[in-house]
Amino acid sequence: MIPAQSSETRQLNTLAINAKCPALYLPESIADLKEIIRDLDAPFYLLGEGSNTLFTEDQTPVLIKPKLMGKSIRHDGDNVFITVGCGENWHELVTFCKDQGYHGLENLALIPGSVGAAPVQNIGAYGVELSDVLYSVQWFDFTTFDVKEMAAAECQLAYRDSIFKRQLKGKGAITAVTLKLSTQFVAKLGYAGLNQLPADVSAEQVYQQVIAIRQSKLPNPDDIPNAGSFFKNPIVSHSVFEQLIQLNPNMPSYPAASGFKKLAAGWLIDQAGFKGIRFGEAGVHQQQALVLVNLGQANGKDIIALANKIRTEVHKKFNVLLEPEVRFVDQHGLTDIDKASQTCLNQ
Ligand SMILES: Cc1cc2nc3c(=O)[nH]c(=O)nc-3n(C[C@H](O)[C@H](O)[C@H](O)COP(=O)(O)OP(=O)(O)OC[C@H]3O[C@@H](n4cnc5c(N)ncnc54)[C@H](O)[C@@H]3O)c2cc1C
Repeated sequence: MIPAQSSETRQLNTLAINAKCPALYLPESIADLKEIIRDLDAPFYLLGEGSNTLFTEDQTPVLIKPKLMGKSIRHDGDNVFITVGCGENWHELVTFCKDQGYHGLENLALIPGSVGAAPVQNIGAYGVELSDVLYSVQWFDFTTFDVKEMAAAECQLAYRDSIFKRQLKGKGAITAVTLKLSTQFVAKLGYAGLNQLPADVSAEQVYQQVIAIRQSKLPNPDDIPNAGSFFKNPIVSHSVFEQLIQLNPNMPSYPAASGFKKLAAGWLIDQAGFKGIRFGEAGVHQQQALVLVNLGQANGKDIIALANKIRTEVHKKFNVLLEPEVRFVDQHGLTDIDKASQTCLNQ
C-alpha cells in the first residue's frame, strides 16, 4: 500500500495554484484503490495531471492520483484495440500509437493530461474527439467496488461532456481506457491549419503539424501556468444565433447539433475587451482570450474573480452565459463556479 503524503499542490495542477492538500494517495492498482476508498473517512478528489482543475480554496480535499499504468494491444484485421492504464500520459500514448502505425489519434497530439481523464470531458481538438476512437472504459465503482467494462455508447460522450460529469460524477474511477484504432491512416484535415496539407499527407506530418500549431497558439503551462480553454464554446439555438449574427456580422461560429450553433468563447471574450488584461495575479493570455493564466502567485480566488468579470461582461454584451470547462474543486471536492464564487464572497 502506498503511504499518503500531505502536500502542496503547485506541482499537481497546470494553473500552479498552491493550496494545502491534507493527503495525497498514489494508488498503483485497483487493489490499492479499494483499500484507500474503504479506509478513507474524508472528502476526496480524483486527480489526473491537474490540467483541467482549479483548486478554489487554500485547502483541497484528500487527493487520489491513480498511477495505474501499462498497455495491452489486440489486433483484429485492420483494427487495433489498445487498452491503457488511466495513469498513463495522453500525449505519450498518442506518440506511441503514431510510431507503431496505430492511427486515429494524430489530431489529438499534445493535449495535456492523463488517459483516465480523457473520457471525462471527451477531449477534442482539430476536428477529432475521443468519441471517434473510444471503444470502452474500465470503471471502478466507489460504493460497490465492482469493476465493469462500459461500452463507449454508455459513456454518453458529447462536446466536452460525458456521463462522468453527470450521473457518475464522483461515483467511481476510470481505471483503464480501450481505444479502437486502425492500421490504415485516414487524414482528417477539415480544420483550419490542417486544411492546407496535401491529401496524401502522412500520419507523422499531421501529428507534427498539430504540435506546431498548438505550440504557436497556446501558452505552455510550464512557462505560463494555465488550464487551456477556461470556458466551453457556448452552444446556442438558431434563433439566438440569428439575433447575434445580425448585430455582429463577423462573429465566428461552428456547426453543432441540428437547430443549434456553437460560438467561439474566445472571440466573445476578446470582444468584451479582456484579451491580454491583468487582474491582480490572474490574467487573460495575450493571444488566446479563452486561456486564463496565473501570472505568478494567483490563488483560486483570483482566478474565480477574473472568470466572473469575464462572464458578467460577456453576458452584458451578448446575453450569452459562459460555462467553465475547467473543473472547480474546493476543500470538500468538486463544486461549481457559482458555489465557489459565493464561498469567496463569504470569506
Ligand atoms: C495548455 C492546455 C491545452 C489544452 N487543450 C485541450 C484541448 O485541445 N482539448 C481538450 O479537450 N482539452 C484540452 N485541455 C484540457 C485538458 O488537457 C483535458 O481536460 C485533460 O483530459 C485533463 O486531464 P488531466 O489528467 O490533467 O485531468 P485533471 O484536471 O486531473 O482532472 C479533470 C477531471 O477528470 C477527472 N478524472 C481524472 N482522472 C480520472 C479517472 N481516472 N477517472 C475518473 N475521473 C478522472 C477529475 O476528477 C476531473 O473531474 C488543455 C489543457 C491545457 C493546460
